[in-house]
Amino acid sequence: MALKIWLDGRLVDESEAKISVFDHGLLYGDGVFEGIRVYNKKVFELDAHIRRLYDSARAIRLQIPMEPDQVKQAVEQTVQANGVVDGYIRLVVTRGVGTLGLNPFNCSRPSVFIIADKIQLYPQETYEKGMKVISATTVRNHPLALPPQIKSLNYLNNILAKIEAIDSNVLEAIMYNYEGYVAEATGDNIFIVRKGVIYTPPVEAGALEGITRAVVIRLAQKEGIQVQEKNLTRYDLYICDECFLTGTAAEVIGVVEIDGRTIGNGSPGPITQLLRRRFFEYAHGQ
Ligand code: PMP
Repeated sequence: MALKIWLDGRLVDESEAKISVFDHGLLYGDGVFEGIRVYNKKVFELDAHIRRLYDSARAIRLQIPMEPDQVKQAVEQTVQANGVVDGYIRLVVTRGVGTLGLNPFNCSRPSVFIIADKIQLYPQETYEKGMKVISATTVRNHPLALPPQIKSLNYLNNILAKIEAIDSNVLEAIMYNYEGYVAEATGDNIFIVRKGVIYTPPVEAGALEGITRAVVIRLAQKEGIQVQEKNLTRYDLYICDECFLTGTAAEVIGVVEIDGRTIGNGSPGPITQLLRRRFFEYAHGQ
């Protein structure tokens, strides 16, 4: 069934949802976006996503031509128009149509569009058995070049690392920052468990401030499990007891091999499984 796309103030058929070739979102990756889940017809953590969208926009001096509440309504409207029960939303703000030069202030008006569809990021089997990952040689963007907290339309840094993963016949790559500390996966945050304590890199290490990350930290603390933000090295990953990734699309997924080193006993560990279960319950019972 053809989707209804929300584009600049109205719902249009998928075939009519078009963006100009002069849009700087396309010409330069100049824009911001959010990926959001829908569980049981309810939009998951919508306020947090809207906040991050506006923060990303502010950081790149992009004025979203709508109030946050209007964007929220538009998201809800798109979900309803497409009858989405469990699905995934892509909310995008581009710089808009401009001239063939970089200057963003020559662009007339930012475009806002919303797609509500389905997503399956990793095969179901990897959720049960865990996934293998590699360390990418592509270094995560230096925060002084492009702060990784900005969820921008320019994902080439992540795509280059993803290509390394695919070339190595695995689904994900771990990215390190310019100092060699673990940053995140190409589209997910990373956690490890060691002696019952959960560790995750601080966002300053070059990670997106993941909304799933924040939820999982809260759920872990509720279980009485200690969570620490700490700079992690490749060695820390190699010797950990458990490792898992979090993200809107990925949810919570265990990692069972890193650069050929087996993690734990080679299947998702007990804390990973517990948090995966708790996340499912929380998301579906929201
Ligand atoms: N890091 C990157 C680079 C991402 O693109 C994402 C979102 N896919 C995440 C982490 C996870 O963030 P969230 O939980 O908010 O989806």
